[in-house]
Amino acid sequence: MAAVPEYFGSMVFDDRVMKANLSAEVYRSLRKTIDEGAKLNIGVANAVAQAMKDWAVARGATHFTHWFQPLTGVTAEKHDSFISPSPDGGVIMEFSGKELIQGEPDASSFPSGGLRATFEARGYTAWDPTSYAFLKDKTLCIPTAFCGYNGEALDKKTPLLRSMEALNRQALRILRLFGNTEVKRVNTAVGPEQEYFLVDADMWAKRRDLRFTGRTLFGAKPPKGQEMDDHYFGTIKPRVAAYMADLNDELWKLGILAKTQHNEVAPAQHELAPIYTTNNIATDHNQLTMEMMQKVAARHGLVCLLHEKPFVGVNGSGKHNNWSISTDTGVNLLSPGETPYENAQFLLFLCAVIKAVDDYQDLLRISVATAGNDHRLGANEAPPAVVSVFLGDELAAILGCIEHDAPYTSIDTGKVRLGVDVLPKFRRDTTDRNRTSPFAFTGNKFEFRMVGSADSIACANIMLNTAVAESLRVYADRLEGAQDFQTALQAMIRKTIQDHKRIIFNGNGYDDAWIKEAVEKRGLLNYPATPDCVPHLLDEKNVALLTSHQVFTKTELVSRYEVTLENYCKTILIEANTMADMARTEIIPAIQAFALDTAKTAAAKRELVPGCPCGCETELVKKLSALTDEIYREVGALEEAVLALGSAGDVKAEAEMIRDTVLPGMSRLRLPCDQAETITPKKYWPFPTYGDLLFGVR
Ligand code: ADP
Ligand code: MG
Repeated sequence: MAAVPEYFGSMVFDDRVMKANLSAEVYRSLRKTIDEGAKLNIGVANAVAQAMKDWAVARGATHFTHWFQPLTGVTAEKHDSFISPSPDGGVIMEFSGKELIQGEPDASSFPSGGLRATFEARGYTAWDPTSYAFLKDKTLCIPTAFCGYNGEALDKKTPLLRSMEALNRQALRILRLFGNTEVKRVNTAVGPEQEYFLVDADMWAKRRDLRFTGRTLFGAKPPKGQEMDDHYFGTIKPRVAAYMADLNDELWKLGILAKTQHNEVAPAQHELAPIYTTNNIATDHNQLTMEMMQKVAARHGLVCLLHEKPFVGVNGSGKHNNWSISTDTGVNLLSPGETPYENAQFLLFLCAVIKAVDDYQDLLRISVATAGNDHRLGANEAPPAVVSVFLGDELAAILGCIEHDAPYTSIDTGKVRLGVDVLPKFRRDTTDRNRTSPFAFTGNKFEFRMVGSADSIACANIMLNTAVAESLRVYADRLEGAQDFQTALQAMIRKTIQDHKRIIFNGNGYDDAWIKEAVEKRGLLNYPATPDCVPHLLDEKNVALLTSHQVFTKTELVSRYEVTLENYCKTILIEANTMADMARTEIIPAIQAFALDTAKTAAAKRELVPGCPCGCETELVKKLSALTDEIYREVGALEEAVLALGSAGDVKAEAEMIRDTVLPGMSRLRLPCDQAETITPKKYWPFPTYGDLLFGVR
């Protein structure tokens, strides 16, 4: 086996390959496009396409595809082969600059939220040269943005790139005010920690709920769950270890910096974290990672569950979005500095984030809203649906002193200092590990923990980048017009702390008392379910933010609103239908079979022992019969609730009805089914149990 450095990125048309395969002039020109967004001319595009094709064909590729991220949340690809007929009856392999730059997939079946009538099927994909092309299964994949005929974004990459640009624009203004003339570009960097479950593929195949919906819709609590905390960071089982090793290899070949892996809290739950990289690339890589996780699992007789809540009663899965802002000169703007000057700049960026999170709590909540994620955020689980910021005691104390213009006594040195230069050097371990906060400062980055495990990280970062861009815009406007920069800066930082301290919370985010305090005393928003929050995407302040920074147009926002609610409705409807189907065709017959055998046992006993009371059998049959009646009734009620949606009118009303009638109906149906499971012998039960699934992989 070759050493990792030898094959890392071997499937990627990366900088090394470009340098080796492009003329100096073409390379320089392409680099300018990648680094500075300079326009690419067709001559350069042709040369790049040719080199890409030669490189790919030499590695066995036959096809190319524009790889994009429509609003379905998964990636899409339409493959074209490189072949082109030659006069002698053979073929040659061709790929032009035009094909590299733009594609025109028939896009009529991708969700667009009414943005594009289906008769206008055309959509465009446009090459994103900032994310490297790569090889996957004999296909050259070219990362692209996806838009409609009039340039409206139909994907997640386009607004993400726009939001990065918005942040860059405003951050540069701030850096110039601090006298920095060197920095040409400010980027956000992201390291997403990805949680997932692994279950045995044979068991998975026996459960229609897992196959159709990605989560279990039935299942009694097993005798052992996660109460012993013996899985977290525990020894990795051989089959899982083999899977992880194989997965790492695949990811490394794709140039993905897979770094950390461990068992998570729930049995059968694991985590993978890459080394952080530029926002846009991290997003592409996370999509690829999720795809590879599933693909590699199949080779090991496993299925990788990315759903946010595959099992009731054990922890769900999230994706911690570690996020920071850094310059092209390598400075992390969220890293506390050594000097008063650096500290002032750090405090300003820190305040910008605090203000952004407070002003746009709703957008952050909306950015992670899916039917699956509601099971985490809306329930008694980490993190809550209320957005707050964790800073740690030390930083919170410093901000407190700045707010009141009071001296700060350093924990380390005991020295008293004043003003914005008070920041002591952080010891990394003093930024303690509050795991319950939705948005935690962890030394030199923020960790946004609300993102769902199956979701793209694009949406969360779009909102985060834009909201912070807006804080910076406000600051830059104020500071550019200030008489005295230092005084204005101090006043502004103090004012931000005063105005936005309600969003800072260092306590236990799971606590019910916190939710009460957050909502009643602090006036923070609490939107437990997707239909509660998504309509606020169109609130005037949110539309103003996103349009003024040119991240979305109003029309695009309306389309996202529609698509998000549609996805919510469709997801839960599939679940409801699957439940009804399983209850009718699998669960009821299983209970009946057991009841029948029990009745037969009683009859046989009575024949043998005339007058035998058969108390156990009688009780069991009564109980089973009552449960089947209840299940039968609840299936009917659920089906009626689904039928009633026909009268909803619009997607918002439908989503609300689903929240208020379908979801509760599903819980009511589940209850007697799970009860029946606990008294029905395994040989009758039609599918593997929680115990089988959670402890079945060795
Ligand atoms: P933990 O589970 O302790 O929070 P992990 O090592 O699992 O930590 O994940 C931390 C993630 O944060 C990694 O993806 C890491 O690359 C990323 N990260 C570290 N520093 C930064 C930074 N400055 N900006 C963005 N992400 C970062
Ligand atoms: Mg981690």
